[in-house]
Amino acid sequence: MKSVGFIGLGHMGAPMALNILKADFKLKVFDLNPSAVRTLSDAGATTVSSALEAANDVDVLITMLPSSPHVKQLYLGEDGLFENISGQPLIIDCSTIAPDAAKEVAEAAKRRGLEMLDAPVSGGVAGASAGTLTFIIGGKSEALEKGRPFFECMGKNIFHAGGNGAGQVAKICNNMLLAVLMAGTAEALQLGVNNGLDPKVLSDIMNKSSGNNWCLDVYNPYPGVMDNAPAARDYDGGFLVDLMNKDLGLAAEAMLSSKSSTPLGSLAKSLYALHASKGHGGLDFSSIQKLFQPE
Ligand code: NAD
Repeated sequence: MKSVGFIGLGHMGAPMALNILKADFKLKVFDLNPSAVRTLSDAGATTVSSALEAANDVDVLITMLPSSPHVKQLYLGEDGLFENISGQPLIIDCSTIAPDAAKEVAEAAKRRGLEMLDAPVSGGVAGASAGTLTFIIGGKSEALEKGRPFFECMGKNIFHAGGNGAGQVAKICNNMLLAVLMAGTAEALQLGVNNGLDPKVLSDIMNKSSGNNWCLDVYNPYPGVMDNAPAARDYDGGFLVDLMNKDLGLAAEAMLSSKSSTPLGSLAKSLYALHASKGHGGLDFSSIQKLFQPE
């Protein structure tokens, strides 16, 4: 039986790790937050007391951490995994981080004789729980093929974007578009409500019209429209505004370094920054709806 180490059991990591376990792989898990491991230990995973213990002597190591500094610290920092790890695991980092950080860590892995993939995901917590995530992968195709059985138990779509870092570039483009779509969806819904429409009726209409998009379809930001969306639970959980701001920052860096023009992405970045400055960084990103609601 193949063994997997999984580090980072937050909103996304915990349901992803549960799907690894359901697929009958042997699983060791670690998170800095002790309460995050409980669901996994209850489900039968082995819990360990350090990242290094989770990484040692497994076939595959998967990490799902918030941002570039977390990933760099874990792999390259003082007492980092690459200095101390035993065994030759395939390393899969599913966090959304800067493409340059992904390349830097992958190069360090290579110097250490290890194969590494950047494999950020799309599909949210619901996709992580259902095992229907989209994996957007950067790295060598041979490494992707080694990782395929693990991707398949956590996801439905597996894309090879290019070399190391390319998965992150594609993910950043996707999330910039997502921010534009969510802000646009929220403002259109509010416009309708302010002009006397029922948000559910308006959502049904736009969903079957040319304004249809993922936010309307599965992640409606207006409270009361969709039972299982974060808007139905005061925007608790899901994909945090702070993480969306991180991704929009990564898009801005990529825009500057490639001399691209992203006016709508830049506007979405300002809107999300304003929303976070009002104390909403810890809410799901669909809470951008609040920015448009009358006081
Ligand atoms: P989260 O903050 O809920 O989880 C991150 C977890 O990592 C936390 O439990 C934290 O304790 C743990 N952690 C941090 N540093 C650690 C370390 N050194 N060792 C062990 N554990 C450590 O974040 P999330 O929502 O699960 O997102 C994770 C990544 O996935 C982010 O990069 C995010 O941008 C991306 N993402 C999130 C979603 C979503 O819907 N939440 C969707 C797609 C992609």
